[in-house]
Amino acid sequence: MSAETGEEAVLFRGVSKTYGTLVALDAIDLRIPRGQSVAILGPNGAGKTTALSLLLGLRNPTAGSLSVLGGKPREQAVRARVGAMLQSSGLPEYLRVDEAIALFRSYYPAPLPIDELLALAGLTEKARSRIARLSGGQVQRLYFALALCGNPELLVLDEPTVGLDVEARRSLLATISEIANRGRTVLMSTHYLEEADAVSDRVVVIDRGRIIADGTPSEVKGTVGRKRVAFTSRVAFDDVRLSRNGERYEALTESPELLLRDLFTRGIEIDDLTVTGATLEEAFLALTGGENKHVA
Ligand code: ATP
Repeated sequence: MSAETGEEAVLFRGVSKTYGTLVALDAIDLRIPRGQSVAILGPNGAGKTTALSLLLGLRNPTAGSLSVLGGKPREQAVRARVGAMLQSSGLPEYLRVDEAIALFRSYYPAPLPIDELLALAGLTEKARSRIARLSGGQVQRLYFALALCGNPELLVLDEPTVGLDVEARRSLLATISEIANRGRTVLMSTHYLEEADAVSDRVVVIDRGRIIADGTPSEVKGTVGRKRVAFTSRVAFDDVRLSRNGERYEALTESPELLLRDLFTRGIEIDDLTVTGATLEEAFLALTGGENKHVA
């Protein structure tokens, strides 16, 4: 194993993926050291699933190179050390939970014990239930157990909490944290900054195929955790921080107090003031320059 790749769980170098004319990933460089727990955060269509499917060897990059655990994604030796939970999994419904787990365990040289897998996924009571009889959340947890079957060094989870209720989501995130604390590398995609915050050492934000922020959860929160200030003013004025639509003014800012103080100091009268947490969508827009639509 070369020194260059020995420490990396995942290495993307200039990786692009296009579907026809659509650029899903645009020259991504990403290095994930072993043992790190990373959340890939981004809105719909950002390229998260594409990035994960490339590193799982399910698709080929259009350009660039990537390595996983020091090898190529499709090498058998690599695949045996990676566990994945994807959005579009499919399992025969007539199988029982314990049968599905036994089947997946048989693919791996050193699988985790079945009881541990059932317990990690919170499915001990459902071991003998047929998949057809499980709730959506339970099926989701079964997929999680299947991803863990081989005791993977790298665990890849594509939006694992989709469809889970609050309690199931909280418990799955706690289990993912536990796996990360065992020193496994965890790579999870999500739409939610709170989820990223709960389980990850690092958050990589992608939007329209590009990495637009990369840091600890608190660093990224500082960048995307902006406030949305909105108000009306009957007297028109210009301010580069604000966008205007008729009498309505809006801004995304990390320091709403400062902005408002400035406006009051200038004697600008405002009505209908609201200050709310920016949605992630707004934060992405801000990060990608969408907020710079200033008053002409
Ligand atoms: P979501 O949060 O909605 O799951 P995502 O971040 O996982 O989104 P991707 O599924 O990677 O996004 O999709 C990135 C872009 O590539 C989207 O515009 C999507 O429509 C497009 N895309 C993905 N797969 C294909 C495909 N097989 N053929 C054509 N376009 C595709």
